[in-house]
Amino acid sequence: MKALRHFILVGAPASGKGTQGRFLSETFGLNPLSTGSLLRREVEKCSELGHQVNYYMSNAMLVPDQLVNDVVRGWLADMGDRPWLLDGYPRTVAQAENLDHFLNSRGDSVDVVVWMDVSRELIEQRICRRRECSTCGHIVQDANARVCSECGGEMVTRKDDNLEAFARRWADFEAMTLPVARYYEARGKVVKMTINSERDAADVSRELAQKLEDFRRSH
Ligand code: ADP
Repeated sequence: MKALRHFILVGAPASGKGTQGRFLSETFGLNPLSTGSLLRREVEKCSELGHQVNYYMSNAMLVPDQLVNDVVRGWLADMGDRPWLLDGYPRTVAQAENLDHFLNSRGDSVDVVVWMDVSRELIEQRICRRRECSTCGHIVQDANARVCSECGGEMVTRKDDNLEAFARRWADFEAMTLPVARYYEARGKVVKMTINSERDAADVSRELAQKLEDFRRSH
C-alpha cells in the first residue's frame, strides 16, 4: 500500500475545490498550487507573465496550455520530492498529457485525482453569493461579507463571478476539463464526490477522507 502524495483536484468553478483543497493539504501535508491564484497574483504584480495572461483571465478564457504548463513544471521542479496538490491544473487533456509526460520523465506519477462533481444549478446559486479575500484568497458564501475573518483583508467579488462569465466558464469546463476527469478515470486514478444539494463542507471532507482511505487500500 502506497501513501498518497501527488494529488489533483478537478471540478467546475465554485465546486468547493478551494475548501476541500485546504482540507486535503492539511490532512495529507501537501503543498498546494492553485494556478488561478498564482496567475491572478502575477497580473496584480504586473509581471511579464501577468501581462501575457491578463487578457485571457479578464475575459474568462483559459490561458494557453504552453504558458500554464511552463509555470507548473517550474513549480513542480522546485517542489522536488515534497508532496503536492494541484488545484485548477490540468484543465485540458493536453495539459494532463504534458503533466504525465513530465512526471514520468522523473519516475513520478499522479497518485489520485479528486473529482468534485457538483450540479450546475448548485454552482449558479453559490456564484451569486461568493466573496473572496483580496489578500489571502479566503472564500465565503456571504454576499455581504466586507472584511476577511482570516486575515482582516478586504472581501471582494471576483471580476469573473457573474452568471454571464460563469456560463462561459461552465462551457469551457464541460468541453475541456470534464475530459480531464475522464482521462484519469480511465487510468483508475479518480475519487469522485457527487454533490447535488448544499452540504456542510466538513461533512463533505469526512466523506472524502473515507473514500481516499478506501482508494489507498485498494491500490
Ligand atoms: P475557478 O476555479 O473559479 O474557475 P481559477 O481561479 O481556477 O478559477 O482560474 C481563474 C482563471 O485563471 C481561469 O479563468 C483561467 O483564465 C486561468 N487559469 C487557471 N488555471 C488554468 C489552467 N490550468 N489552464 C488555463 N487557464 C487557467
